Amino acid sequence: MSKRDYYEVLGVSRSASQDEIKKAYRKLARQYHPDVNKDDPSAPEKFAEIAEAYDVLSDGQKRSRYDQFGHQDPTQGGFGGGQGAGFGDFDFGGFGDIFDMFFGGNGARSRGPQRGQDLEYELEVDFEDAAFGVEEEIQIPRTETCSTCGGNGAKPGTQPKTCTVCNGTGEQQTVQSTPFGRMVNRRVCSNCHGRGVVIEQPCPDCRGQGRKRVRRTVQIKVPAGVDTGTRLRVAGAGEASPNGGQPGDLHIVIRVRPHEIFEREGTNVYVDMPITFVQAALGDEIEVPTLDGEVKLRIPEGTQSGTMFRLRGKGIPRLGSSNSRGDQHVRVQLMTPTNLTDRQKELFRDLGKELGVQTHEQARSFMERMKDAFLGNA
Ligand SMILES: [Zn+2]
Ligand SMILES: [Zn+2]
Repeated sequence: MSKRDYYEVLGVSRSASQDEIKKAYRKLARQYHPDVNKDDPSAPEKFAEIAEAYDVLSDGQKRSRYDQFGHQDPTQGGFGGGQGAGFGDFDFGGFGDIFDMFFGGNGARSRGPQRGQDLEYELEVDFEDAAFGVEEEIQIPRTETCSTCGGNGAKPGTQPKTCTVCNGTGEQQTVQSTPFGRMVNRRVCSNCHGRGVVIEQPCPDCRGQGRKRVRRTVQIKVPAGVDTGTRLRVAGAGEASPNGGQPGDLHIVIRVRPHEIFEREGTNVYVDMPITFVQAALGDEIEVPTLDGEVKLRIPEGTQSGTMFRLRGKGIPRLGSSNSRGDQHVRVQLMTPTNLTDRQKELFRDLGKELGVQTHEQARSFMERMKDAFLGNA
Protein backbone atom coordinates (compact mmCIF):
# COMPACT_ATOMS: atom_id res chain seq x y z
CA MET A 1 0.00 0.00 0.00
CA SER A 2 1.69 3.18 -1.15
CA LYS A 3 1.42 6.26 1.00
CA ARG A 4 0.61 9.62 -0.48
CA ASP A 5 3.13 12.38 -0.32
CA TYR A 6 2.53 14.54 2.77
CA TYR A 7 2.71 17.76 0.79
CA GLU A 8 0.21 16.36 -1.65
CA VAL A 9 -2.09 15.35 1.22
CA LEU A 10 -2.15 18.91 2.55
CA GLY A 11 -2.20 20.43 -0.93
CA VAL A 12 0.80 22.69 -0.32
CA SER A 13 4.07 23.20 -2.18
CA ARG A 14 7.35 21.75 -0.88
CA SER A 15 8.47 25.28 -0.05
CA ALA A 16 5.30 26.09 1.93
CA SER A 17 5.82 28.12 5.09
CA GLN A 18 4.75 26.82 8.52
CA ASP A 19 1.86 29.25 8.33
CA GLU A 20 0.67 27.91 4.99
CA ILE A 21 0.93 24.35 6.26
CA LYS A 22 -1.06 25.21 9.35
CA LYS A 23 -3.75 26.97 7.30
CA ALA A 24 -4.06 24.13 4.81
CA TYR A 25 -4.25 21.63 7.64
CA ARG A 26 -6.93 23.52 9.55
CA LYS A 27 -9.06 23.84 6.45
CA LEU A 28 -8.82 20.14 5.60
CA ALA A 29 -9.21 18.97 9.18
CA ARG A 30 -12.35 21.03 9.52
CA GLN A 31 -13.64 19.53 6.28
CA TYR A 32 -12.92 15.89 7.11
CA HIS A 33 -13.31 15.92 10.84
CA PRO A 34 -15.38 12.78 11.49
CA ASP A 35 -17.47 14.66 14.01
CA VAL A 36 -18.39 17.25 11.41
CA ASN A 37 -18.48 15.02 8.37
CA LYS A 38 -20.67 12.16 9.54
CA ASP A 39 -22.02 11.39 6.08
CA ASP A 40 -18.70 10.56 4.45
CA PRO A 41 -17.62 7.03 5.44
CA SER A 42 -14.07 7.73 4.25
CA ALA A 43 -13.75 10.85 6.45
CA PRO A 44 -11.97 9.11 9.38
CA GLU A 45 -9.32 7.71 7.01
CA LYS A 46 -8.81 11.03 5.26
CA PHE A 47 -8.71 12.81 8.58
CA ALA A 48 -6.04 10.45 9.88
CA GLU A 49 -4.00 10.93 6.73
CA ILE A 50 -4.22 14.72 7.11
CA ALA A 51 -3.28 14.56 10.80
CA GLU A 52 -0.28 12.38 10.00
CA ALA A 53 0.95 14.70 7.26
CA TYR A 54 0.57 17.67 9.56
CA ASP A 55 2.35 15.96 12.42
CA VAL A 56 5.43 15.57 10.26
CA LEU A 57 5.36 18.79 8.23
CA SER A 58 4.64 21.01 11.23
CA ASP A 59 7.74 19.75 13.03
CA GLY A 60 10.94 21.27 11.62
CA GLN A 61 13.10 18.20 12.35
CA LYS A 62 10.63 15.63 11.14
CA ARG A 63 9.96 17.72 8.06
CA SER A 64 13.60 17.99 7.04
CA ARG A 65 14.06 14.25 7.54
CA TYR A 66 10.97 13.63 5.47
CA ASP A 67 12.26 15.99 2.78
CA GLN A 68 15.48 14.00 2.71
CA PHE A 69 14.23 10.43 3.01
CA GLY A 70 10.53 10.55 2.19
CA HIS A 71 8.43 7.92 3.94
CA GLN A 72 11.48 5.65 4.46
CA ASP A 73 13.51 7.34 7.16
CA PRO A 74 16.43 5.06 8.04
CA THR A 75 16.99 6.75 11.41
CA GLN A 76 13.40 6.37 12.55
CA GLY A 77 12.21 3.26 10.82
CA GLY A 78 9.77 5.26 8.77
CA PHE A 79 7.13 7.72 9.73
CA GLY A 80 4.60 5.06 9.19
CA GLY A 81 3.70 2.61 6.49
CA GLY A 82 7.26 1.35 6.32
CA GLN A 83 6.11 -2.07 7.43
CA GLY A 84 3.31 -2.13 4.91
CA ALA A 85 0.73 -1.56 7.60
CA GLY A 86 -0.91 1.55 6.23
CA PHE A 87 -0.97 4.21 8.88
CA GLY A 88 -1.46 1.51 11.46
CA ASP A 89 1.94 1.93 13.04
CA PHE A 90 1.64 5.62 13.47
CA ASP A 91 0.77 7.03 16.84
CA PHE A 92 -0.97 10.17 15.94
CA GLY A 93 -0.65 11.77 19.27
CA GLY A 94 -1.76 14.94 17.54
CA PHE A 95 -5.30 13.64 17.63
CA GLY A 96 -6.11 15.23 20.95
CA ASP A 97 -4.53 18.49 19.82
CA ILE A 98 -6.87 18.61 16.88
CA PHE A 99 -9.94 18.39 19.04
CA ASP A 100 -8.51 20.98 21.37
CA MET A 101 -7.82 23.30 18.50
CA PHE A 102 -11.33 23.23 17.13
CA PHE A 103 -13.58 22.64 20.02
CA GLY A 104 -11.65 23.82 23.02
CA GLY A 105 -12.26 20.45 24.64
CA ASN A 106 -9.92 17.90 26.10
CA GLY A 107 -9.62 15.83 22.98
CA ALA A 108 -11.35 12.77 21.70
CA ARG A 109 -11.06 10.93 24.97
CA SER A 110 -13.29 13.33 26.87
CA ARG A 111 -15.76 14.75 24.43
CA GLY A 112 -16.56 18.20 25.79
CA PRO A 113 -19.61 20.04 24.51
CA GLN A 114 -18.99 22.17 21.46
CA ARG A 115 -20.54 25.53 20.72
CA GLY A 116 -23.15 25.81 17.95
CA GLN A 117 -22.18 27.56 14.74
CA ASP A 118 -22.67 31.28 14.20
CA LEU A 119 -25.15 32.44 11.58
CA GLU A 120 -24.99 35.52 9.40
CA TYR A 121 -28.00 37.37 8.01
CA GLU A 122 -28.12 40.44 5.79
CA LEU A 123 -30.83 42.89 6.82
CA GLU A 124 -32.01 45.65 4.47
CA VAL A 125 -33.36 48.74 6.20
CA ASP A 126 -34.82 52.01 4.90
CA PHE A 127 -32.69 55.16 4.92
CA GLU A 128 -34.76 56.80 7.66
CA ASP A 129 -34.86 53.61 9.76
CA ALA A 130 -31.07 53.37 9.59
CA ALA A 131 -30.91 56.97 10.80
CA PHE A 132 -33.37 56.74 13.68
CA GLY A 133 -33.48 53.03 14.50
CA VAL A 134 -36.21 50.45 13.99
CA GLU A 135 -37.39 47.11 15.25
CA GLU A 136 -37.45 44.38 12.63
CA GLU A 137 -38.80 40.86 12.78
CA ILE A 138 -36.81 38.40 10.70
CA GLN A 139 -37.20 34.72 9.93
CA ILE A 140 -34.03 32.70 9.93
CA PRO A 141 -33.66 29.04 9.11
CA ARG A 142 -31.51 27.47 11.78
CA THR A 143 -30.80 24.21 13.52
CA GLU A 144 -32.23 23.82 16.99
CA THR A 145 -32.05 21.12 19.61
CA CYS A 146 -34.90 18.65 19.03
CA SER A 147 -37.51 19.21 21.72
CA THR A 148 -38.98 15.71 21.35
CA CYS A 149 -35.84 13.87 22.48
CA GLY A 150 -34.14 16.74 24.26
CA GLY A 151 -31.24 16.45 21.86
CA ASN A 152 -30.00 12.94 22.60
CA GLY A 153 -31.52 11.53 19.38
CA ALA A 154 -33.22 8.58 21.08
CA LYS A 155 -36.93 7.81 20.81
CA PRO A 156 -38.76 9.14 23.91
CA GLY A 157 -38.76 6.44 26.57
CA THR A 158 -35.47 4.97 25.34
CA GLN A 159 -31.88 6.01 25.97
CA PRO A 160 -28.79 6.06 23.75
CA LYS A 161 -26.54 3.11 24.69
CA THR A 162 -22.86 3.42 25.39
CA CYS A 163 -20.95 2.05 22.40
CA THR A 164 -19.63 -1.39 23.27
CA VAL A 165 -16.84 -1.24 20.69
CA CYS A 166 -15.11 1.81 22.16
CA ASN A 167 -16.72 1.81 25.63
CA GLY A 168 -17.96 5.30 25.00
CA THR A 169 -14.61 6.89 24.27
CA GLY A 170 -15.39 7.42 20.59
CA GLU A 171 -12.08 6.01 19.44
CA GLN A 172 -10.57 2.63 18.82
CA GLN A 173 -7.05 1.83 19.89
CA THR A 174 -4.78 -0.92 18.72
CA VAL A 175 -1.31 -1.63 20.07
CA GLN A 176 1.25 -3.22 17.82
CA SER A 177 4.71 -4.53 18.58
CA THR A 178 7.27 -3.69 15.93
CA PRO A 179 11.05 -3.99 15.72
CA PHE A 180 11.18 -0.33 16.70
CA GLY A 181 9.01 -0.61 19.75
CA ARG A 182 5.39 -0.48 20.74
CA MET A 183 3.20 1.52 18.37
CA VAL A 184 -0.23 2.78 19.32
CA ASN A 185 -2.87 3.45 16.76
CA ARG A 186 -5.99 5.41 17.57
CA ARG A 187 -8.80 5.98 15.14
CA VAL A 188 -12.37 7.19 15.29
CA CYS A 189 -14.65 4.37 16.36
CA SER A 190 -16.24 2.80 13.29
CA ASN A 191 -19.26 1.62 15.23
CA CYS A 192 -20.40 4.95 16.70
CA HIS A 193 -18.41 7.28 14.41
CA GLY A 194 -16.84 8.91 17.42
CA ARG A 195 -20.05 9.73 19.24
CA GLY A 196 -19.40 7.22 22.02
CA VAL A 197 -23.06 6.17 22.01
CA VAL A 198 -25.28 4.12 19.74
CA ILE A 199 -28.93 4.93 19.23
CA GLU A 200 -30.99 1.80 18.75
CA GLN A 201 -34.39 3.48 18.41
CA PRO A 202 -33.98 6.90 16.85
CA CYS A 203 -36.27 9.80 17.75
CA PRO A 204 -38.93 9.95 15.01
CA ASP A 205 -38.93 13.74 15.04
CA CYS A 206 -35.24 14.32 14.24
CA ARG A 207 -34.39 10.82 12.94
CA GLY A 208 -31.77 10.41 15.62
CA GLN A 209 -29.91 13.62 14.83
CA GLY A 210 -30.90 15.35 18.07
CA ARG A 211 -31.32 18.57 16.08
CA LYS A 212 -33.91 19.90 13.65
CA ARG A 213 -34.06 22.60 10.97
CA VAL A 214 -36.66 25.21 11.83
CA ARG A 215 -37.63 28.72 10.71
CA ARG A 216 -37.30 30.90 13.75
CA THR A 217 -38.64 34.43 14.15
CA VAL A 218 -36.12 36.76 15.75
CA GLN A 219 -36.77 40.35 16.87
CA ILE A 220 -33.95 42.67 15.88
CA LYS A 221 -33.52 46.07 17.55
CA VAL A 222 -31.68 48.16 14.96
CA PRO A 223 -30.12 51.14 16.77
CA ALA A 224 -30.10 54.69 15.37
CA GLY A 225 -27.12 55.52 13.16
CA VAL A 226 -26.37 52.14 11.57
CA ASP A 227 -24.85 52.18 8.10
CA THR A 228 -24.28 49.65 5.35
CA GLY A 229 -21.82 47.10 6.74
CA THR A 230 -22.70 47.68 10.42
CA ARG A 231 -22.72 44.32 12.23
CA LEU A 232 -25.07 43.55 15.09
CA ARG A 233 -24.76 40.45 17.24
CA VAL A 234 -27.68 38.56 18.75
CA ALA A 235 -26.06 36.30 21.32
CA GLY A 236 -27.34 32.72 21.38
CA ALA A 237 -29.56 33.05 18.27
CA GLY A 238 -27.26 30.95 16.07
CA GLU A 239 -27.18 27.20 15.51
CA ALA A 240 -27.77 24.77 18.37
CA SER A 241 -24.81 22.82 19.68
CA PRO A 242 -24.66 19.22 18.43
CA ASN A 243 -23.92 17.92 21.92
CA GLY A 244 -25.46 20.07 24.61
CA GLY A 245 -23.08 23.06 24.45
CA GLN A 246 -23.88 26.75 24.04
CA PRO A 247 -25.69 27.84 20.87
CA GLY A 248 -23.82 30.05 18.39
CA ASP A 249 -24.54 33.73 17.77
CA LEU A 250 -26.51 35.41 15.02
CA HIS A 251 -24.67 38.19 13.19
CA ILE A 252 -26.81 40.77 11.41
CA VAL A 253 -25.12 42.70 8.62
CA ILE A 254 -26.95 45.94 7.77
CA ARG A 255 -27.55 47.15 4.22
CA VAL A 256 -29.17 50.59 3.92
CA ARG A 257 -31.57 51.05 1.00
CA PRO A 258 -30.72 54.09 -1.13
CA HIS A 259 -32.99 57.12 -0.72
CA GLU A 260 -34.70 58.94 -3.59
CA ILE A 261 -33.27 62.35 -2.73
CA PHE A 262 -30.86 61.97 0.18
CA GLU A 263 -27.34 60.70 -0.08
CA ARG A 264 -25.31 59.70 2.91
CA GLU A 265 -21.66 59.82 3.83
CA GLY A 266 -20.97 58.72 7.39
CA THR A 267 -23.26 60.87 9.53
CA ASN A 268 -23.64 63.60 6.89
CA VAL A 269 -26.58 63.85 4.49
CA TYR A 270 -26.31 65.46 1.04
CA VAL A 271 -29.16 66.78 -1.05
CA ASP A 272 -29.27 68.63 -4.41
CA MET A 273 -31.73 71.57 -4.60
CA PRO A 274 -32.67 73.06 -7.98
CA ILE A 275 -33.07 76.87 -7.97
CA THR A 276 -33.90 79.32 -10.77
CA PHE A 277 -31.64 82.00 -12.29
CA VAL A 278 -33.79 84.60 -10.63
CA GLN A 279 -33.51 83.04 -7.15
CA ALA A 280 -29.74 82.69 -7.57
CA ALA A 281 -29.29 86.27 -8.78
CA LEU A 282 -31.65 88.04 -6.38
CA GLY A 283 -31.54 85.67 -3.39
CA ASP A 284 -34.53 83.85 -1.90
CA GLU A 285 -35.74 81.67 0.92
CA ILE A 286 -36.30 78.06 -0.14
CA GLU A 287 -37.82 74.99 1.51
CA VAL A 288 -35.39 72.11 1.90
CA PRO A 289 -36.40 68.53 2.79
CA THR A 290 -34.52 67.05 5.75
CA LEU A 291 -34.87 63.89 7.83
CA ASP A 292 -36.89 66.02 10.27
CA GLY A 293 -39.21 67.49 7.62
CA GLU A 294 -38.96 70.71 5.59
CA VAL A 295 -36.78 73.55 6.85
CA LYS A 296 -36.25 77.06 5.45
CA LEU A 297 -32.90 77.99 3.92
CA ARG A 298 -31.82 81.52 2.88
CA ILE A 299 -30.09 81.71 -0.49
CA PRO A 300 -28.08 84.93 -0.64
CA GLU A 301 -27.99 87.26 -3.63
CA GLY A 302 -25.53 86.16 -6.34
CA THR A 303 -25.35 82.49 -5.39
CA GLN A 304 -23.34 80.36 -7.86
CA SER A 305 -24.40 76.92 -9.05
CA GLY A 306 -22.86 74.15 -6.93
CA THR A 307 -22.62 76.29 -3.77
CA MET A 308 -22.97 74.14 -0.67
CA PHE A 309 -24.98 75.25 2.37
CA ARG A 310 -24.88 73.50 5.69
CA LEU A 311 -27.78 72.70 7.99
CA ARG A 312 -26.14 71.89 11.29
CA GLY A 313 -27.37 68.85 13.20
CA LYS A 314 -29.76 67.75 10.47
CA GLY A 315 -27.72 64.68 9.53
CA ILE A 316 -27.65 61.11 10.87
CA PRO A 317 -27.32 60.38 14.60
CA ARG A 318 -23.94 58.95 15.55
CA LEU A 319 -24.24 55.23 16.28
CA GLY A 320 -24.32 54.77 20.03
CA SER A 321 -24.90 58.45 20.91
CA SER A 322 -28.34 59.58 19.81
CA ASN A 323 -27.88 63.24 20.82
CA SER A 324 -24.94 63.79 18.50
CA ARG A 325 -25.81 64.18 14.83
CA GLY A 326 -24.05 64.95 11.56
CA ASP A 327 -25.01 67.83 9.25
CA GLN A 328 -27.07 68.10 6.11
CA HIS A 329 -25.32 69.67 3.13
CA VAL A 330 -27.48 71.37 0.52
CA ARG A 331 -25.93 71.75 -2.94
CA VAL A 332 -27.81 74.28 -5.13
CA GLN A 333 -28.11 73.55 -8.83
CA LEU A 334 -29.04 76.30 -11.25
CA MET A 335 -31.74 75.36 -13.70
CA THR A 336 -31.36 76.89 -17.17
CA PRO A 337 -34.83 77.82 -18.41
CA THR A 338 -36.05 75.99 -21.51
CA ASN A 339 -39.02 76.36 -23.89
CA LEU A 340 -39.05 80.16 -23.54
CA THR A 341 -41.88 82.20 -25.08
CA ASP A 342 -41.05 85.00 -27.53
CA ARG A 343 -41.68 87.55 -24.77
CA GLN A 344 -39.30 85.73 -22.35
CA LYS A 345 -36.60 85.47 -25.03
CA GLU A 346 -36.93 89.21 -25.66
CA LEU A 347 -36.46 89.92 -21.93
CA PHE A 348 -33.36 87.69 -21.79
CA ARG A 349 -31.87 89.46 -24.83
CA ASP A 350 -32.44 92.81 -23.15
CA LEU A 351 -30.92 91.49 -19.93
CA GLY A 352 -27.97 90.09 -21.89
CA LYS A 353 -27.31 93.51 -23.46
CA GLU A 354 -27.55 95.08 -20.04
CA LEU A 355 -25.12 92.53 -18.54
CA GLY A 356 -22.91 92.35 -21.65
CA VAL A 357 -19.99 94.45 -20.47
CA GLN A 358 -20.00 92.90 -17.04
CA THR A 359 -20.04 89.28 -18.24
CA HIS A 360 -17.32 89.98 -20.80
CA GLU A 361 -15.10 91.40 -18.11
CA GLN A 362 -15.75 88.47 -15.81
CA ALA A 363 -14.90 86.05 -18.62
CA ARG A 364 -11.69 87.93 -19.50
CA SER A 365 -10.43 88.07 -15.94
CA PHE A 366 -11.20 84.34 -15.61
CA MET A 367 -9.14 83.55 -18.75
CA GLU A 368 -6.26 85.66 -17.44
CA ARG A 369 -6.27 83.87 -14.12
CA MET A 370 -6.16 80.53 -15.98
CA LYS A 371 -3.19 81.69 -18.05
CA ASP A 372 -1.35 82.86 -14.93
CA ALA A 373 -1.98 79.53 -13.30
CA PHE A 374 -0.54 77.58 -16.25
CA LEU A 375 2.47 79.88 -16.74
CA GLY A 376 3.08 79.89 -13.02
CA ASN A 377 3.33 76.11 -13.04
CA ALA A 378 5.50 75.93 -16.16
ZN1 LIG B 1 -35.35 14.18 18.41
ZN1 LIG C 1 -17.80 3.54 19.53
